[in-house]
Amino acid sequence: MARFIFVTGGVVSSLGKGLASASLASLLQHHGYKVRIRKLDPYLNVDPGTMSPYQHGEVYVTDDGAETDLDLGHYERFTGVTSKKSDNITSGKVYQKIISKERKGEYLGATVQVIPHVTNEIKEFVSKDLNDEDFVICEIGGTIGDIESLPFIEAIRQFHNDNGHENSLFMHVTLVPYIASSGELKTKPTQHSVKELRSLGIQPNILLCRADREIPEDERRKIGLFCNVKGDCVIPAINANSIYEVPVNFFNEGLDKRVLEYFRLESKKEIDLKMWSQVSKRILEPEGSIEIGIVGKYTGLADAYKSLNEALSHGGIFNNVRVKLNWIESEELNGSNLENKLNNCHGILVPGGFGERGAEGKIAAIKYARENKIPYFGICFGMQLAVIEMARNILGIKEANSSEFADCKESIVGLMTEWSNVDNTTEKRTKESDLGGTMRLGAYEAKLKNNSKVREIYDTELISERHRHRYEVNNNYATLFESNGVHFSGYSPDGLLPEIVELKDHPWFIGVQFHPELKSKPFDPHPLFKSFIGAAKNKT
Ligand code: GLN
Repeated sequence: MARFIFVTGGVVSSLGKGLASASLASLLQHHGYKVRIRKLDPYLNVDPGTMSPYQHGEVYVTDDGAETDLDLGHYERFTGVTSKKSDNITSGKVYQKIISKERKGEYLGATVQVIPHVTNEIKEFVSKDLNDEDFVICEIGGTIGDIESLPFIEAIRQFHNDNGHENSLFMHVTLVPYIASSGELKTKPTQHSVKELRSLGIQPNILLCRADREIPEDERRKIGLFCNVKGDCVIPAINANSIYEVPVNFFNEGLDKRVLEYFRLESKKEIDLKMWSQVSKRILEPEGSIEIGIVGKYTGLADAYKSLNEALSHGGIFNNVRVKLNWIESEELNGSNLENKLNNCHGILVPGGFGERGAEGKIAAIKYARENKIPYFGICFGMQLAVIEMARNILGIKEANSSEFADCKESIVGLMTEWSNVDNTTEKRTKESDLGGTMRLGAYEAKLKNNSKVREIYDTELISERHRHRYEVNNNYATLFESNGVHFSGYSPDGLLPEIVELKDHPWFIGVQFHPELKSKPFDPHPLFKSFIGAAKNKT
């Protein structure tokens, strides 16, 4: 049977539970074990698909078409294990299932309650759809004390009793703040948070203490004493310069050792973390530096484009350059400041996006990149807008637009009304359909044309990439585009949906209908990001 590690968080949010879970998983892999990481999100949304990325961070899409929490992106980037729909649940999903069962009469007259019905569903989720994993790490979203998390905490408490204490471990991530006026690190918030956790029946086995400096031995002992945790299981998690340093830092603090000791397991192979130290070295000590202008809508939450930031830095790792990101607010771009804002960029990127606001600024930036031969990378919305820009300015179709914005005369980009899902079911949709879960979602194949730039970049004919969009480039204009030097170099295998657009007469101009950033790894950077950053480097 798999061993379970439950990761909770206390004191404040944003302590990096996701990164901690992913880093621990990577260490266990390096000891020769098979791992899976899951996220249990207590909020009431069925999935984060309808949540604003500017509030909640990016929506991460899996191969099997689930819209999930961005932490699943960390999990994949750190472990290389492909996440599945069954790796993320929310209270919304649990209640949706329970209510539908209740309506069908499946509870046979019983009163449906949080304990045992909700907790049973959570426990079932934790251990279902596994495949010989040695370890399953389950991260509980939110912070101890949140009302929504109570059923989740109760469920993992029961799970621990049901499955034998030796088969599951509780790891609690807390904060040990430094108070400048007294010049001290404070352990009290951690004590309170563990007290709260213990009042819910959970005694943590390992405490991971985030701090901005070394936690002296005395303080560690004190935390252990007050929290009823063994002294060597109070593990400091000191702020790192790069997230990719975290696995090595945890190894140096002995986190993996403590976990294996708890489960009475030995390492299956000699641990070698060269891979991580090389990645960190490349990130922290690159040979050069380039600047990429990302033209989008921003509210300052960097997590809104988490995978994109990471994929760009992976391209930098490959090319041995630091990739500086210059976030350019598309709503503020206009004819008079365009040159000023963009002329320092070695590459320009328009990422995925929704809605009309800021679209004209993005189109202006694309035109600038095309005309001034600056490497341009359009992702999803950035590809659709590139097609619209070229329809207007190369084909001369002045009214060209997307039906996402208005009932335009020339729908160069139009609503997709019917398509087959990843699981081969057919989806039909109108403008009035629900917003949640109704996009073309998940991994779809695309065929790349011979003699194209993308074919050279991927070095294969058939690719599979993840999608999340409602609109598609209208293939009726393909011939007209082709005869004007705009090349649709990748298509869905049935030849109906343009997946990639590129320009021959340009150093690097590629738009893709999918999200390549979701599959890039620090130790295996995505080919498009390697190539784009390489092209930008050539501009220095
Ligand atoms: N808004 C566009 C669509 O729905 C693009 C989506 C995206 O960039 N992910 O098709």
